Amino acid sequence: MAQLDNLYREIIMEHFKNPRNKGLLTDGPYRKYRFKNPSCGDDITIQTKTEANRVSDCRHEGSGCSICCASASILTEMMIGRDVDEAKTIAETFVAMVKNEPYDETIDLGEAEAFQGVRMFPARTKCATIAWLAFLETIKPEGDTNE
Ligand code: ZN
Repeated sequence: MAQLDNLYREIIMEHFKNPRNKGLLTDGPYRKYRFKNPSCGDDITIQTKTEANRVSDCRHEGSGCSICCASASILTEMMIGRDVDEAKTIAETFVAMVKNEPYDETIDLGEAEAFQGVRMFPARTKCATIAWLAFLETIKPEGDTNE
């Protein structure tokens, strides 16, 4: 169990130090959504491009703690190339897992499973979930989240 914790910690620190898909693009059309977590100082923007009901690109920008930044990096890596409905299911499953709510454990969350332990620390739940909640806003069918 302790080894598992170490593996998860390594995944989080690796993404924090070497974030994937960081930096917003200016050539659209994209939808983006910004989420802040004042209790920790996290400030994350997620930008998503969808084409033919598929996530063709997903980027993140902002600053925050290691949990927040690593979860944004892992999110973008997991979502690119996914069907929008599948991406929505994965994001909702991740949020439920971190919040310690019932979720479908047969859904493969890949590296995002590294955040399982966050449920033990309710104060950090928001750190792990804001990127995913912002992502869900960017793929909502209605509305316009472009600034
Ligand atoms: Zn945080």
